[in-house]
Amino acid sequence: MTDCPLCQNCAFFNGWLVRMPKEAAFYRVKFCGSDFENCARFQVHAATGIKHPTLLPDENDRVKNIISELNYERAAKSGQY
Ligand code: SF4
Repeated sequence: MTDCPLCQNCAFFNGWLVRMPKEAAFYRVKFCGSDFENCARFQVHAATGIKHPTLLPDENDRVKNIISELNYERAAKSGQY
């Protein structure tokens, strides 16, 4: 089993799940401890370097739009748009 490299600094893993022990166990088994490359939060961070504040690990349907929005915001701030 390989742990997600973001475990130590992932707000979801370290914060949100503290009050949800059943959900914590589910996500840790499904994503954090093995299949982290399919975690939506990991995917957004890998593409943008940003830890999303509300994205859940299984919200993969949001990943493309979030990456596009974050890249657009970054480009807009740098004056590329
Ligand atoms: S797998 Fe996802 S939820 Fe788990 S530590 Fe990594 S980024 Fe966070």
